[in-house]
Amino acid sequence: MGSPITIFRLFDYRPCGHELLVRVGRPAASNADQGALDAADDLADAATERLRTWWERSRLQPGCPHPHTPHLVAEMQDEPVGEDLYGPGRRQFGVWVAGTKYGTPWVVLGTASTEAEFWQEVQDAPALLSLGPRAPAQLRHVYFLTDEDGPSARGLDPEAAAGPA
Ligand SMILES: [Zn+2]
Repeated sequence: MGSPITIFRLFDYRPCGHELLVRVGRPAASNADQGALDAADDLADAATERLRTWWERSRLQPGCPHPHTPHLVAEMQDEPVGEDLYGPGRRQFGVWVAGTKYGTPWVVLGTASTEAEFWQEVQDAPALLSLGPRAPAQLRHVYFLTDEDGPSARGLDPEAAAGPA
């Protein structure tokens, strides 16, 4: 069996530069079964899409009512640096983003109070070093959502959808 994977995807919204970071789980699937792997990927993609469109409708459009184009600018499928990205979503904070040897959109992500602290944590994580992270890291101010926060987790609760940004 392939293990379950946690996937982080960062979207940048043109033309204003809003940024949304989504965390979803990809269920375990047999590595020998391409159909099962594809189905697990589809589930993670669908969860990402659901959170993204829900956020656009409930948070982005009310505050900034003109058309936006989302772009996937970063993705990570490993354990990030810092505590924040393991915790609940519906929060805003700064995230360090470093490119890797695998090129766009693959990155190493994490929260830390300084870039030096971020790199120190990366140095201590062999799985992250194996991705070939590249300095400098960029600080991005993101809205963070997880598959435990969105409409899939709480139903289409009108109060949750209308909550403060
Ligand atoms: Zn905008």
